[in-house]
Amino acid sequence: MRFRHQRTAAAVALAAAAVIGLPACSVVLGEEESILDAASLTVGVKTDQPRLGAEDDNGDLTGFDVDVALYIAGRLGFAAEDVEVTGITSADRERELINEDVDMVVATYSITPARKTEVTFGGPYYVAKQDVLVRDEDTDVRGVRDLEGRSVCHEEGSNSAARIREGLGIDVEQREASNYSACIKALREGEVDAVSTDNLILAGFLAEEPGTFRLVNEPFTDEKYGVGLPHGDVRACEEVNRAINQMYRDGTAADLLETWFGETDLQLVTSVPQFEGCDPA
Ligand code: GLU
Repeated sequence: MRFRHQRTAAAVALAAAAVIGLPACSVVLGEEESILDAASLTVGVKTDQPRLGAEDDNGDLTGFDVDVALYIAGRLGFAAEDVEVTGITSADRERELINEDVDMVVATYSITPARKTEVTFGGPYYVAKQDVLVRDEDTDVRGVRDLEGRSVCHEEGSNSAARIREGLGIDVEQREASNYSACIKALREGEVDAVSTDNLILAGFLAEEPGTFRLVNEPFTDEKYGVGLPHGDVRACEEVNRAINQMYRDGTAADLLETWFGETDLQLVTSVPQFEGCDPA
């Protein structure tokens, strides 16, 4: 969306240069296009994950990811009124960045080698871990290996299923839903045996309905939450990393983690994560 405007502007400048007889190279073309150069910023966040990205009673999107997105946008120089936060699902993240429907994604979006070929990631801004949620009365599941042969729900486009099957070679009966709240509904209603994804996501749902579910609390991966950016936007990636660094140094990250997850039993990490680097894959 934003790049489209820029390309149009560049084309107009080129045409103008041709009309007035300037060599095209005198037009500012040397600099790489970046979302940093546009007047506004559209950020994709989740809408159904309590405490991360969820709609409140007024229809506003709230949560840790939303606050991180707004902090970063501010540090990138965007005024609050120029930042639009919009809903996105796991399955749509790469496509919406590639199509320029969104400029940035802050949506429990793990940095993976495959995704890096389509998207540039700033961060990580937090490292979550995959875990397992079962119904409270289900005392048989003590770790991910106990899911062998059981039905496990994941959001479409999420990498959590691959972590179990390809990553650990555990043969589960995989069920896909359109989002994680649909998985939680299926778990509550006994349609699946477990939901397995990032512990921050599971802890958010657990806190919504005390006594309904149990977090197994045997984490088994590192889920490095990246800030998804258009592939190759190295300038934005470097600025995002500066913003994340500042967010940890000025205490905002610790405050936000405490605000959103302080009441849960999660072990929160308040030191700045090691950055992945901005070189495009
Ligand atoms: N962090 C994992 C991923 O990026 C699972 C959660 C999600 O899909 O948002 O695939």
